Amino acid sequence: MATQRILDFIATRRPNGPCLVVDLDVVEQNFSAFRKALPDSAIFYAVKANPAPEILRLLASLGSNFDCASVAEIEMALDAGATPDRISYGNTIKKERDVAAAHAHGITLFAVDCVEEVEKVARAAPGARVFCRVLTNGEGAEWPLSRKFGCVPAMAIDVLQHARELGLKPTGVSFHVGSQQTNTEAWDSALADAAHVFRTLAERGIVLTLVNMGGGFPTRYLKDVPSAQAYGRSIFDALRRHFGNRIPETIIEPGRGMVGDAGVIKAEVVLVSRKSDTDENRWVYLDIGKFGGLAETMDEAIRYPIVTARDDDAKEPCVLAGPTCDSADVLYEKKPYPLPISLTIGDEVLIEGTGAYTTTYSAVAFNGFEPLKAYVI
Ligand SMILES: *Cc1c(COP(=O)(O)O)cnc(C)c1O
Repeated sequence: MATQRILDFIATRRPNGPCLVVDLDVVEQNFSAFRKALPDSAIFYAVKANPAPEILRLLASLGSNFDCASVAEIEMALDAGATPDRISYGNTIKKERDVAAAHAHGITLFAVDCVEEVEKVARAAPGARVFCRVLTNGEGAEWPLSRKFGCVPAMAIDVLQHARELGLKPTGVSFHVGSQQTNTEAWDSALADAAHVFRTLAERGIVLTLVNMGGGFPTRYLKDVPSAQAYGRSIFDALRRHFGNRIPETIIEPGRGMVGDAGVIKAEVVLVSRKSDTDENRWVYLDIGKFGGLAETMDEAIRYPIVTARDDDAKEPCVLAGPTCDSADVLYEKKPYPLPISLTIGDEVLIEGTGAYTTTYSAVAFNGFEPLKAYVI
């Protein structure tokens, strides 16, 4: 998690203030692990997880493709060296003028989940390839994405048929089983739905070729998670089960699983106090909180490993909070976090597994705190 390179960087550079340090070697190892686990699937890195230019350049050089959610993300991927044929505009909610801008950049692959969106794509990117996102239940995910994106499979059939009628190329089906998906079997029912859409449209003379199996691959936080290999096996078995020997082209879009364990946040204890003489739990306030990049602690969904130099000392549960003047800026309270009793003001703490969904979630200057700085080494 905190690799020797990251520890050396923090020890020698002594960066001031909270910051994320990302080790590119770990990103490269993760990319290789995905490639080995799912050798027949194209990898489209979900740029929103961490769009640092160094990460995008490394992945572009390794042959990755990119899943982008906005024109700005598309431009970042292009700047990193990806050609337009290696970029998908995977957001189902796009302004028509943004579809037109992507089309002008040469992007030809778009996500949709309703006929209204198909109509925008048909007008702004005539002839483009589209895939339709179907809903999943998100069960087993620690950060579910269900409901907002996708439609039921029966509607996906109509959406793709409508795309054909408007001169687009109906290409396939996509889904996302929910982020930090710890169940390797979660892809099974979504692949069953995808196969149903494929079969029904084939009967109507529309031949789909692509299944976009989304992200969801986990990062190890406090609990062990299955290996990329285990996901690969389970997904391949599900493809066989539902598509027989006609397995389509497939895409995966790892975000968290590509960069989560490559980053560590260095933070500092600002205050340790209690609310009364009889308060059971100490309150530990850090110089980073929900608005400084740790937004995924919302509802205490993601529980990061926290490392201190005093971890050999006895520990007691603490309420852990951020530095801003907003009472929502509490990281762990329902389930207090065990930290060394000797932990004190000014101590450095390392928050591990923070390479994904931290810099992109950090506010620009809430309470005057700077956005999370990042060093990619
Ligand atoms: C966010 C997102 C991903 C990445 O999800 P992870 O769980 O981080 O792997 C992939 N695809 C789409 C469409 C997304 O919105």
